[in-house]
Amino acid sequence: MSLRKALLVVCDGMGDRVEREYGGETPLGIAKTPTLDRLAASGYVGLMDPVSPGIRPGSDYATTALLGYDPSIYYTGRGGLEAAGAGIDLKPGEVAFRCNFSTVDDSLTVIDRRAGRIEKGTTDLAETIREIKPRGVKGLRIDFRATVAHRGVLILKGKGLSRMVSDVDPHDNGVKILRCEPLDDSSAAKRTAAVVNSIVTQSFRIMRDHPVNLARVKEGKRPANIILPRGAGTLPGFKTLHELYDMKVACIAAVALVKGVCRIAGAELVNVEGATGGLDTNYEGKAWAAVKALENHDLTLLHVKATDVASHDGDFQKKASVIEKIDSALGKIMPSLNSESTYVIVTADHSTPVSVRDHSGNPVPLLISGPGVPSSGVSKFSENAVSRGNLGRLHGLDLMRIIADYLGKAKKLGF
Ligand code: ZN
Ligand code: ZN
Repeated sequence: MSLRKALLVVCDGMGDRVEREYGGETPLGIAKTPTLDRLAASGYVGLMDPVSPGIRPGSDYATTALLGYDPSIYYTGRGGLEAAGAGIDLKPGEVAFRCNFSTVDDSLTVIDRRAGRIEKGTTDLAETIREIKPRGVKGLRIDFRATVAHRGVLILKGKGLSRMVSDVDPHDNGVKILRCEPLDDSSAAKRTAAVVNSIVTQSFRIMRDHPVNLARVKEGKRPANIILPRGAGTLPGFKTLHELYDMKVACIAAVALVKGVCRIAGAELVNVEGATGGLDTNYEGKAWAAVKALENHDLTLLHVKATDVASHDGDFQKKASVIEKIDSALGKIMPSLNSESTYVIVTADHSTPVSVRDHSGNPVPLLISGPGVPSSGVSKFSENAVSRGNLGRLHGLDLMRIIADYLGKAKKLGF
């Protein structure tokens, strides 16, 4: 293993647009970030287009790019990533769906997409769901796992399946569930859609009177009486970072999709107590776990979701305060990282401007600090400062190659 290490900090949705109301600054620009500022001053800074200029990626799509895999080739839907994040190894040809345990009425109108935010009993319900036999299809098996709270993963196993099918989940309450439809003319897509519809119908039949739901109704809670699949996906067929760069990677993240991409890329998932994926996450615990993980990994990816949560809430100040918490946690661990041998890279998977409250195609700020990296001399880590930085403007796909090069892991091309 090389002596050089890298800590890659991905602040989800941290990138933003400047706001006149805040003096032409962004949340990162107004946040008090002494540690990030110091790292930015002593390293490379620039802007990065996670996928391509103007492309609005989801976190899973963007993380695929940041790990060096071209998502236009390798992104194969959310279901496969969600399954991997939940520790399920999909096999080639299997199709996975993200599912919600939901509440519907007898006309299959959604009363509550999250079944009263059910927490307990989903493992028992999953056991019953696994017994469903889709009608009219031979040689097909199903698996179902409950994951976190009202979420689960449905996996179809067998020949002739396709991920090109639509969602059953209407993504809203008060409307009827949707029929799963094939999204292309292939017989595999038609067959998969028929299977999904059969499973959903049967799930309602068998879950309605399940003891878990009878007990919930008695307690005045909403029953989890149906599963609503969405986001069909297959296993992305990419090589691991170990195979590509001989790199041992650890991932510290709370979000299943991010964990999924990292796991498929060969990263070891490190669980941290109190890592919630929310604003209340254990910032310091995650940062210290990264220090520990670097002891026996070449690269540790530390992902923090809270910046994106504050962005979707449209709260400029809250986003700035989340960034300050990340900065403070990084400040605590910095003395424990060997600056002679450790690179610290800080960036975002995409921009989520508070004014938009959703992901945008804006580039994200990037800093790379460590041995042999020239100083930018900027006094602040912000979108404004890095846009005049010494690194210029990169593509997300460049990042892993640059890290591999600094770690002495890049292969030479040509003579
Ligand atoms: Zn994201
Ligand atoms: Zn988001």
